[in-house]
Amino acid sequence: MYSKSIQNLIESLSKLPSIGPRQASRIVFYLLKKPDDEIKSFSENLLSLKQNVKLCPECFLSYEADGVKKGCDICLSHKRLKTKICVLQKEVEINNIENTGIFDGVYHIIGEDINMLNDEKQTETSIKKLIERIKNLKNQNQNDIEVILATNPTTEGTAMLMYLNQKLKPLDIKITVLGRGLSSGNELEYADQETINNAFLGRN
Ligand SMILES: [Zn+2]
Repeated sequence: MYSKSIQNLIESLSKLPSIGPRQASRIVFYLLKKPDDEIKSFSENLLSLKQNVKLCPECFLSYEADGVKKGCDICLSHKRLKTKICVLQKEVEINNIENTGIFDGVYHIIGEDINMLNDEKQTETSIKKLIERIKNLKNQNQNDIEVILATNPTTEGTAMLMYLNQKLKPLDIKITVLGRGLSSGNELEYADQETINNAFLGRN
């Protein structure tokens, strides 16, 4: 039986995505051999994550809060088209899209699973906010509004796509989905640049 501290850390790590108990114990024993200062900086980084990172009130993207900034860099940028909103399930997908340079609009993070509506309310809050964003644009007499539903070709993604379509339809705006050069099962997170480029160009 492991000591209490080891056991506790294994339990914490096992809760991370894609980490099982065996991998968790391997990480714990790896960390145990590391020098004190390395472990200290690791734990400080962990704490700082919750203390300094905030979610953008517009799009739910995370950003480094310095007490002055009121949102993420993309929402605050004057170079981005606020009338073009790309709806994504996961923030991690943005890096891939940004690397292609194909998209000059803004984002909206909706959450991975529609079933989370019952759970954390995060998706529900995010969808309400998306509708509010669109209504605000319409109130500013912006006519050229496009919402790109870039959900993944998974069961959760497809359910999300249908739900969003239904929710956004009454707003009478242009709704597009990504062209699927993205083969079924190929998520944005893992797609290469050319595939993402084609998916954006082929949206309809
Ligand atoms: Zn934002």
